[in-house]
Amino acid sequence: MTTRDDTKTRLDALRVEIERRNPAQPEFHQAVHEVLDTLAPVLAARPEYAEPGLIERLCEPERQVIFRVPWQDDQGRVHVNRGFRVEFNSALGPYKGGLRFHPSVNLGIIKFLGFEQIFKNALTGLGIGGGKGGSDFDPHGRSDAEIMRFCQSFMTELYRHIGEHTDVPAGDIGVGGREIGYLFGQYRRITNRWEAGVLTGKGAGWGGSAIRPEATGYGSVLFAAAMLRERGEDLEGQTAVVSGSGNVAIYTVEKLLALGANPLTCSDSSGYVVDDKGIDVELLKQVKEVERGRISEYAERRGASARFVPGGRVWEVPADVALPSATQNELDENDAAALVRNGVKAVAEGANMPTTPEAVHLFQRAGVAFGPGKAANAGGVAVSALEMAQNHARTAWSPAKVEEELAHIMSAIHTTCHETAERYGAPGDYVTGANIAGFERVADAMLAQGVI
Ligand code: GLU
Repeated sequence: MTTRDDTKTRLDALRVEIERRNPAQPEFHQAVHEVLDTLAPVLAARPEYAEPGLIERLCEPERQVIFRVPWQDDQGRVHVNRGFRVEFNSALGPYKGGLRFHPSVNLGIIKFLGFEQIFKNALTGLGIGGGKGGSDFDPHGRSDAEIMRFCQSFMTELYRHIGEHTDVPAGDIGVGGREIGYLFGQYRRITNRWEAGVLTGKGAGWGGSAIRPEATGYGSVLFAAAMLRERGEDLEGQTAVVSGSGNVAIYTVEKLLALGANPLTCSDSSGYVVDDKGIDVELLKQVKEVERGRISEYAERRGASARFVPGGRVWEVPADVALPSATQNELDENDAAALVRNGVKAVAEGANMPTTPEAVHLFQRAGVAFGPGKAANAGGVAVSALEMAQNHARTAWSPAKVEEELAHIMSAIHTTCHETAERYGAPGDYVTGANIAGFERVADAMLAQGVI
């Protein structure tokens, strides 16, 4: 009989081997470690999952593509960036996951994101595999024409690897509606196909789903509300700290306001804004979405209630709920200690892996409800899957219908994570619940489909 200790020893050995074979990819190691760390109870309870090679296959991408992306800036200078698409797991459906354009992008970052996406997508219950891509291109300060040329060059290679039944990219950091438009245009031109389902996050009016831009932020607030409800509390009237000021942060703020909570902060790489009256979401959209400016401009225009704190971190502001919505490892142990000292009750990750492992453990030890990104930010990819469904049926649902579906999906994810954690002896531990529930769905499909 396999005991939990045997299983743990095997998982630890596997982790060491994965780190050896994938050197210099700390974020990928971190993401794998977190999952393997929670799987021992399910492997011990269900011997079929302990089959040799299953976990090994799960941790090895099905395919990894790395390509050159040459482009010319407005002065005619040639730049060469690197493009990536990691097609991690397609047991449940076509590879699905965003593209990130940011100078920090490398293979390890894309692999961590792709690995997390497998479990996140499985949790939605919607038949999508896991993948991720992007480039080390820095869109910051680039003209619209430069962005277009970059996207066209990127797609000139990527098009041969994707398709509505194969791999369906979308946005992530640095890739929003404008970039998806240029990418889609180039795909259509090269292939001579109107293949709406090849990309999600498209514009309203040419195949995009209502509520897709809002979905990640709305979803993570719904998840935070569900965690609070589970503890007999209500989100209404609670204060919240939100980091970031991109798509996820903006719609997190919007949903917090809609549900009667009070979002106090948002941030960018230069510092953060704290607004005692609550963030004015229309001004935030104007500064960040329309003008593509810096967050300090929000404070300059908002008046007496807001101030800009250069170089600071939002986690020093006392609040009931924290929604890290910027990027990986933005909330460390010191930040977590400050939040706990200030009485935080719930943390929901709008970004992917924003909380360091030490900070997660600190929250859990302190009894704070902690919703990992795989569950809490799954609303974005879930509505992407709904966009694919609408494209397939050549139809467009109303915003009300999509929002209703989103609410239903987030509530189901919360219940699944909560019940799975209880079933495996870790009540209230959403990290364990999300990892095991996502794993069970993918593992069942992989076992049924044989050794491939
Ligand atoms: N980039 C988003 C995520 O991290 C969305 C992916 C998608 O819509 O395919 O889940």
